[in-house]
Amino acid sequence: MSNVRVRFAPSPTGELHIGGARTALFNLLYARATGGVFVLRIDDTDLERSRPEFTTGLLESLRWLGLDWDEGPYKQSEYLEGYRQEAERLIAEGKAYYCYCSEEELKAGREEARRRKKPYLYPEKCRDLTADRLKRFQQEGRKPVIRLKIPRDGETVVTDKIRGKVRFDNCNLDDFIIMKSNGLPTYNFANVIDDERMKITHVIRAEEHLSNTPRQQLCALALGYSLPYYAHVPMILAPDRSKLSKRHGATSVEQFRQEGYLPEALINYMTLLGWAPEGDREFFTMAEAAAQFRLDRVNKTAAVYDTAKLTWMNGHYLREGALDRIVALAIPFFEAEGLVNPPLNSEQMGYLEQVVELVRQREKNLLDLTRASSYFYNNHFDYDPKGVKKHFRREGAGQILRALAAKMKTLSDPEPSTFSNAYKEIAKELQLSIGKLMPLSRLALSGRTMGPELFDMMAVLGPEKVSARFLQAVAYIDAGS
Ligand code: GLU
Repeated sequence: MSNVRVRFAPSPTGELHIGGARTALFNLLYARATGGVFVLRIDDTDLERSRPEFTTGLLESLRWLGLDWDEGPYKQSEYLEGYRQEAERLIAEGKAYYCYCSEEELKAGREEARRRKKPYLYPEKCRDLTADRLKRFQQEGRKPVIRLKIPRDGETVVTDKIRGKVRFDNCNLDDFIIMKSNGLPTYNFANVIDDERMKITHVIRAEEHLSNTPRQQLCALALGYSLPYYAHVPMILAPDRSKLSKRHGATSVEQFRQEGYLPEALINYMTLLGWAPEGDREFFTMAEAAAQFRLDRVNKTAAVYDTAKLTWMNGHYLREGALDRIVALAIPFFEAEGLVNPPLNSEQMGYLEQVVELVRQREKNLLDLTRASSYFYNNHFDYDPKGVKKHFRREGAGQILRALAAKMKTLSDPEPSTFSNAYKEIAKELQLSIGKLMPLSRLALSGRTMGPELFDMMAVLGPEKVSARFLQAVAYIDAGS
């Protein structure tokens, strides 16, 4: 085993977003590629926005995707005393200080900076408070924040595995807050301490955190920690190259799950968002990607999210996946649509397998597959109005269906070839082409004008149901004008 240790550190403030899932995936791929350890940490120190149900949801989404962590989940909220102690150590060492500036004062400063179109930098008012003033503030009962002393000149260089060296002038950074007045650490401070105590070797995370990295490096330096390697993975943009948001459809893993996407398709698709294996292979499992995964092959430029490609990929996994796995994933959808009522006995299971095997050839996700399967379960359904006009309202349609129903009654063997032979015979008897009989039959059997191979569909339904549905259609035709 290598000493590589990576972590995924989501904040439980919402559902797992595709961007977060992709970050988790890249961490996992890197851990598997290097024989390292993948740690899960929950950044829950933002008390106002964090909620336990979001943590539960995050874990469920990660598990559903198969992004299995080796350690954790650790929670920041369980380590509050540790952050406090480190902050006090920095104060004792003269590397951080209490700041008593009031919220109004700071706000005024920020507004002034905005007016002058300058970035706001804390004016270091409390950096060198005398012992007397400190005491006075304490006696007044003011609750201080703790700020880190930032070097006034020089630069902080972030060495990133994907982007190379990125330089930040220290004069653009200010003495930022590491502990809030409510005693909780800020993100930049807590994460540095966590990465140290969890012996994280590589921080692989979203590009949006690159600008936080100099602050984190300065924290680490002050605390006397060694720095991890950094790798900031590119953003995921919407097809129109804007920020990916709700208006672009599903963006959370949970939404994708509900829409009937398969975890293996999402994993395969997300792997390609910013990374590509050698060659132009598009389909691979997580293990295959891990075998080749390297951080220096991650793109620097943003990845553009392409729903059509994800959907296409999902269709591939739906068709090609092991039938028992697809059926297992489909059962909750069939249940939600009221088509099955688990637990299924072996006969029901066998029927469901046949339905799924047939319908999955044409569908792109489990939800569509389920909806396209309803007539295998429901004997009553609406007929497509266009189909009715075209096929049912034709001279002689009822007679044809009556003849077909009678023929079906004589069949006992539910093989597609049995039905196709019977159709040959009946076509001859009626002096009609099989091509004429098929769309009419399909409409009578499913209410639809499109669907799986007709004889395959009949084989699944069986002669008895087929015959009954033909007669049902006759009744409908006879009742119509
Ligand atoms: N909680 C932070 C986030 O969700 C983690 C950032 C990091 O990986 O350092 O963005």
